[in-house]
Amino acid sequence: MYGNIKEQLAETLTEIREAGLYKTERQLESAQSSHVGVAGSGVLNFCANNYLGLANHPDLVKAAKVALDEWGFGMASVRFICGTQTQHVELEDKLSAMLGTEATILFPSCFDANGAIFEVLLDAQDAVISDELNHASIIDGVRLSKAQRYRYKNRDLADLEEQLKASADARRRLIVTDGVFSMDGYLAPLPEICDLAERYDAMVMVDDSHATGFVGATGAGTPEHFGVTDRIDILSGTLGKALGGASGGYISAHQEIVDLLRQRARPYLFSNAVAPAVVAGSIAALDVVAQADDLRDTLHSNAQLFRSLMSDAGFTLLPGDHPIIPVMFADEHEAQAMAELLLERGIYVIAFSYPVVPLGKARIRVQISAAHSEDDIRTAAQAFIDARAAL
Ligand SMILES: *Cc1c(COP(=O)(O)O)cnc(C)c1O
Repeated sequence: MYGNIKEQLAETLTEIREAGLYKTERQLESAQSSHVGVAGSGVLNFCANNYLGLANHPDLVKAAKVALDEWGFGMASVRFICGTQTQHVELEDKLSAMLGTEATILFPSCFDANGAIFEVLLDAQDAVISDELNHASIIDGVRLSKAQRYRYKNRDLADLEEQLKASADARRRLIVTDGVFSMDGYLAPLPEICDLAERYDAMVMVDDSHATGFVGATGAGTPEHFGVTDRIDILSGTLGKALGGASGGYISAHQEIVDLLRQRARPYLFSNAVAPAVVAGSIAALDVVAQADDLRDTLHSNAQLFRSLMSDAGFTLLPGDHPIIPVMFADEHEAQAMAELLLERGIYVIAFSYPVVPLGKARIRVQISAAHSEDDIRTAAQAFIDARAAL
């Protein structure tokens, strides 16, 4: 019986609204792209994780259409019963080849991959040492395990070393970090993290969701960028961002780790296999990524151009090279008002404020894509200047 739970929940919803934290969803009236339809008009999209512009790429769409005819719509099974097509294994092998790892296992999402790994690998004798700004799925995955928990300050090597010393009694230790922190666009200092891991005999796991496909010379992500591919024990990542943006995630790691995940990972054993069209589209995405030096160059030059136009106009940006470009504002109302003025000017961006980012660090997170033209980038920067004048 629902009873007075209705009123209790309504009260909670009111609290969320009054705190200014209520999220509404804008509805796209088009496919995901650099140009999308919103509320009856065309706008430039600067808030998608569509870094290489593959979300609506003709090769991926074609591969997915062919797969519908050849492989059907759904799997109606988990992988270990009758949910593994040859193309699922092909996609896993292709990911391993691209990432330079021994083996890969697909999950319904990266959220599920991170939900699976800690419980399988670590128990109460073990410790996980986690960056404080790691993705929610890592935090939840750690909670699902019985491992002892240590947290270090974001990218702070001295604090990481403290936590390694504090966890000296553990049987196994795993340091886990996002490869790129999504609110800042900052990269984790992987070489130094690997040095500490070696000194203190810990494994290293990197969640490279905001890097795979476009960071590193061949798009193999932050380990490639830093030249530490051989020193990373576990990689997690998503098919839901640069690699086509549909859905699915993976763990790519040493053979024994992947083998054990196939035996024990609960989101793998008890959730449906990735849909055939998504698998085929993702294989096509990896083929595009393997030949995508031009897309990576365009993405990089677009990001550089936006950074320089905005800096020249006097905006405060967080520094870096990543296509996540946070434009900082003094207070959250200003960031929010700017995002609304920008949408009126045809630029779709999102303002983030406390508690998603620290108090006083409100920002508009601009996300650049290779699908943007130089003109799109200049239009966006000019819209920021115009919106600021109108504020
Ligand atoms: C987006 C993201 C995820 C979740 O990926 P899904 O495949 O959408 O579940 C996990 N970790 C990080 C760091 C992410 O940015």
